[in-house]
Amino acid sequence: MPLGEFDLIAKFFTRRVTRAALGVGDDCALFAPTIGMQLAVSSDMLVEGRHFLPTVAPQRLGHKALAVNLSDLAACGAAPMAFTLALALPRVDEAFLAGFAQGLLALADAHGCELIGGDTTQGPLNICITVFGEVPVGTALLRSGAQAGDDLYVSGTLGDARLALEVFRGTLALEGTAFDAVRGAMEQPTPRVALGVALRGVATSAIDVSDGLLGDLAHVLRRSGVGATVDVDAVPRSAVLRAQPLVWQRTCTLAGGDDYELVFTAAPHQADTVAAAARLAQVHVTRIGRIDAAAGLRLVDDAGCNVPNTFASFDHFNA
Ligand code: ADP
Ligand code: MG
Repeated sequence: MPLGEFDLIAKFFTRRVTRAALGVGDDCALFAPTIGMQLAVSSDMLVEGRHFLPTVAPQRLGHKALAVNLSDLAACGAAPMAFTLALALPRVDEAFLAGFAQGLLALADAHGCELIGGDTTQGPLNICITVFGEVPVGTALLRSGAQAGDDLYVSGTLGDARLALEVFRGTLALEGTAFDAVRGAMEQPTPRVALGVALRGVATSAIDVSDGLLGDLAHVLRRSGVGATVDVDAVPRSAVLRAQPLVWQRTCTLAGGDDYELVFTAAPHQADTVAAAARLAQVHVTRIGRIDAAAGLRLVDDAGCNVPNTFASFDHFNA
């Protein structure tokens, strides 16, 4: 007999909690943020065929489901505390659940983020996590704070996840280790939590790149009432992506999506502080442009020539 709903929850998703007052098992979980902190709350859903391919290893899927949520906390400068997991499963597959729970909980442990509850039902594979973090009152990084004259930065490298997707689609081909590297970026992104926390009081705005750099940056520009100039050749990319034709390099870095890097702005006099925050968080950050008073997004290349913006970001209802 396959495990029932409650056995499944007990076996894979019930863990001792230390920060929360009450975890899995009652009608509600109970926990409180530290005095002087605001709760930061975000939900992200992963649907099979839309957000991940059926070929992904369960462990990586568990990792990614939480990683994309932690990335939202990072973009607000919030420190992770707890999360809930709502799961629809087509059937009880213990090997799948064991791998999924392992990937999920390893990342949770690495960030001190406790699983405190959720919901489990039968249905097409669907994973919805709600994550709770905390940030000192008034210090959350928002999309609305970019100022004309600010420098524009991005963490890590962009475009590998899109490159991997194109290989899965058959548009591009990559051999062994190169494919493994970009596939890892797509299936196991690293949320930039430490960087987000280190940028409190330094960055004037931030967002995480989930739908593509230019599209996500446009959200910041709109909410901040500013424009930007981006040097498309300055956008950091991996050695694997650099070996691809320039048009693919640009498509993947500017409109790739699924990157989960942070894009943020800071005043030019904060450049040393930004570098120190990046060192503390052990992640590379690169200046890719500047914020302008004039609305709109301008793209230039290394030579300062205008590049037409033909790079469309991902939109679930216009894909
Ligand atoms: P209710 O009927 O009150 O919604 P459930 O029977 O759905 O409660 O869940 C029982 C307990 O198990 C609750 O504490 C709930 O938060 C927890 N839970 C259910 N599914 C999951 C899951 N996938 N991961 C973690 N906790 C879960
Ligand atoms: Mg329930």
